Amino acid sequence: MFHLIVNVCLASGPANCAPMLLPAGDAATQQACMSQMQRIADDWLATRPQLTGQAPRCVDNADLPAVALRELQPKVHVFQGDPVQMEQSSDGRIANLGVIEGDASIAVIDAGVSRAQGQAIYVAIRRMTDKPISHLVLTHMHPDHVLGAQVMAEAGATIVAHHAMSDALQYRTGTYLENIQRLFPPAEWIGTAVALPDVGVTDLDAIDLGGRRVELRAWPSAHTDNDLTALDVTTGTFFTGDLVFRELTPVVDGSLAGWLSWLQGEPAGQARIIVPGHGEPTADWAQAHRPQQAFLKALADATRARIAEGIPMSEAVPIIAKDLKSFAPAWNSFDMTVARDATAAYKELEWE
Ligand SMILES: [Zn+2]
Repeated sequence: MFHLIVNVCLASGPANCAPMLLPAGDAATQQACMSQMQRIADDWLATRPQLTGQAPRCVDNADLPAVALRELQPKVHVFQGDPVQMEQSSDGRIANLGVIEGDASIAVIDAGVSRAQGQAIYVAIRRMTDKPISHLVLTHMHPDHVLGAQVMAEAGATIVAHHAMSDALQYRTGTYLENIQRLFPPAEWIGTAVALPDVGVTDLDAIDLGGRRVELRAWPSAHTDNDLTALDVTTGTFFTGDLVFRELTPVVDGSLAGWLSWLQGEPAGQARIIVPGHGEPTADWAQAHRPQQAFLKALADATRARIAEGIPMSEAVPIIAKDLKSFAPAWNSFDMTVARDATAAYKELEWE
């Protein structure tokens, strides 16, 4: 397969450019791709006045950068992110992503941190199959999971997420885009924009990929207020999003009490393999969730103790962080996350 690539630059400021892959330009032959490339490039740029584009060309799939996908189960592929915080990453590609292939179509689970990563997932998928990408499932609003979504939308995917995700993401869009622009070189973020969900899941839903059913479930507030899990019924692969962290320090951005009760509720059911939002997949639910549960419980206990002593938040946060110091060796990016978690926990639990 050939892909349309346009060299896209920021219209203002110093010359910063990056290659954009426009899925609408895909074609089986280079000639077919070239016959429509200028029109497709012009249409894409027409809606983006902050960008300019030059030199459209048609490139063989094999010559483009792709993320490394690992076949974890038959027709279930995973990209495993580097389990550190964005601030400690050179490109923000820290989240785990999934690709599930049915007889008729593909579902992608999370889209990565940028258009560049979304493109690299897309190239990796097209290296395996030319089946349509019917669905992009977003597990929650966080930027490392959602900012590559526009590539899948342009490829024709319906974006599915928790019903509360759209509002939550719109509220934070400006901050998320500023953050990736501050943290990463322009080649990583040029062309990145938010794509909002087309379908909101309120409780249970399922998607059919042709002989393959993926069950979706929207949960009450836990890691965030818009967490959604996806279960590939055929293989029992359970994509938890950031409801499960391994290796990377868990981030509380929803409800600590809600998250602890989610962990108590045996949410993995009959799942045979768990793909966390960060860290190594595992077949063992206990191994997947117990270290995180212990950390979150200790966070809740330490926070409640300081609130009971009447210590104000600004003084309590460093004390809580110190109380949790024994967890630090087991978790990446601990110091930068624990104070933020203590702040979130204090704000939530002081109203109990
Ligand atoms: Zn998250």
